Amino acid sequence: MQSVVYDIPQGNLNNSFINRVRRYTRKCSFCNNGGHNVARCDDATLQMFYDYLIHLKNETLSMNNYNRILSIQLVEQYIYNFCGQNEENIKIVKSVACRFCYSRINSLLQVSVNKIIRVYIQFLRSK
Ligand SMILES: [Zn+2]
Repeated sequence: MQSVVYDIPQGNLNNSFINRVRRYTRKCSFCNNGGHNVARCDDATLQMFYDYLIHLKNETLSMNNYNRILSIQLVEQYIYNFCGQNEENIKIVKSVACRFCYSRINSLLQVSVNKIIRVYIQFLRSK
C-alpha cells in the first residue's frame, strides 16, 4: 500500500529505469539495511517501542481508574516527551508510526504521533 514512493511521469523509459534501480538499491530509513523499507523493518527497537506503548496502556489505565481519555493523554504526553529528548527518538517514533500505523517517514511529527494514537485508541476498544 505504501511501498511505492516514487512519483514518476508515465511513459518515460529513462525515468522508469532509474525507478527500478532505486528500488533495488533502496535502504531502510531506520536500520539502513537494504531490501526493505521502514514499513517492513524488523528491527527490534521498533517492536520494543510498540510493545512498550501496549504496556503503558495497561499501566495508565489501571493507575487512573480505567479512565481512557486520561490514558490517551498520558500516552501522547509520553511520546512527545520521548521525542523531546533527542533526534534519534524522533526517528524511532516516526519509524514506529510507519511500521505499525500506516504513516510515512516524511510526515510531520504531529501526524506520526496522531497515527500512533489512532491505533492506540483501537487497543483501548479491543480491551
Ligand atoms: Zn529496516
